[in-house]
Amino acid sequence: MLINPVEKDQKHISDLELATGETISDCYQCGKCTAGCPASMDPAPSVLIQFLKLGQFELAKNAESIWSCMACLTCSERCPKNVSPAAIIEGLKNLHLRDMDPRVNLETMSRDLLAHSPQMAIISGFRKFI
Ligand code: SF4
Ligand code: SF4
Repeated sequence: MLINPVEKDQKHISDLELATGETISDCYQCGKCTAGCPASMDPAPSVLIQFLKLGQFELAKNAESIWSCMACLTCSERCPKNVSPAAIIEGLKNLHLRDMDPRVNLETMSRDLLAHSPQMAIISGFRKFI
């Protein structure tokens, strides 16, 4: 994965902060959110936040792992800096919805993704597009 620190997309990140009410720069990368996440996300929640801190909006938005998030809020409960990774991830999913980009599509979903995604995450994803 190539991160280009020169190409920062601060505009979209500011929009995401406005929509979610979160301050991404408050995250100090302790990893407590990731340690408690039951969804085995890769990239993990703290890594998604780090992408955004580095200005890599598209990397975070297009990460497949956001669709494995079950919105259980464990990460947000555990954060010592009062950041809500769950809200930020939900915001990223909503941007796909706004673009009418149905990432959760039963006809195109790979068997591998189906086999490895938590059922709650699949159902949560479908609710956005049906
Ligand atoms: S728990 Fe909070 S401060 Fe720690 S990495 Fe996650 S979002 Fe950042
Ligand atoms: S809300 Fe999503 S990212 Fe946060 S702990 Fe739950 S599954 Fe993991």
